Amino acid sequence: MKIVLLGAPGAGKGTYAQYFRDKYCIPHISTGDIFRAEIAANTELGRKIKTYVEQGLLVPDDIVIEVVKKRLQQPDTVNGFILDGYPRTLVQAKALDEITSIDAAVHLVVSEEVAVRRLSGRMVCPVCGRVYNIYYEPKPRVDEQCDYDGAKLVRRKDDEPEVVRQRYRVFYQTFNPVIEYYRNTRRLIEVNADKSIREVVPILEKILIENKILNLKPCREVVLN
Ligand code: ADP
Ligand code: ADP
Repeated sequence: MKIVLLGAPGAGKGTYAQYFRDKYCIPHISTGDIFRAEIAANTELGRKIKTYVEQGLLVPDDIVIEVVKKRLQQPDTVNGFILDGYPRTLVQAKALDEITSIDAAVHLVVSEEVAVRRLSGRMVCPVCGRVYNIYYEPKPRVDEQCDYDGAKLVRRKDDEPEVVRQRYRVFYQTFNPVIEYYRNTRRLIEVNADKSIREVVPILEKILIENKILNLKPCREVVLN
């Protein structure tokens, strides 16, 4: 199952990618997570991309493509992967098709109103990357603490309202050609992502199985809270 998850910030890309990662044991590859880790570790790459990421601007294509190419060469991707946050531009989408064959692009369609509220309540575990929300399920069992490893949850710098608006503008300016690219190559799947996680997960899973994209056996049971 080699898929990309497309959608505005707050559509739920990270949330659904983690569900499939946990249930089918295939890696969730998030360019945003990779970039944030590089920035935190103050690597050469991290220093190069810091200002873009913190202002909600797109990192230049050549840098992103190189990072993704390297990641997809890792052996854990043999049974498939879920790419989250890539591609963001037509150049990135075309470059990806040179690197590997993508089975489907799942577009999580979310309204701006819903997405902005979700992001203003998003809390993330800095250790395992799990995503929580102060307004919606999943809420952490103990306030501001990860259910799995007890780490103190953090808010992302770019979830500040001003930066969220900037990320929205960038998303709409650059994204339509990417959607059209996957539509024209008959790989686009669109799902209404305004619905709750409990509603979206079975819809998504069913579509992927029916289209013979998801043919892996679950490696563990995942309970939606
Ligand atoms: P993205 O990766 O697309 O920016 P996330 O998966 O990080 O989005 O989700 C954004 C926030 O919205 C998270 O805090 C998540 O828990 C919350 N959320 C609330 N309802 C939903 C839903 N129906 N689908 C996805 N995320 C939801
Ligand atoms: P979102 O919640 O906006 O989907 P991400 O975690 O995917 O956030 O990305 C955070 C930031 O990392 C983006 O605002 C951008 O600066 C950078 N970034 C991530 N993926 C890409 C990409 N494919 N191309 C360019 N920049 C990217």
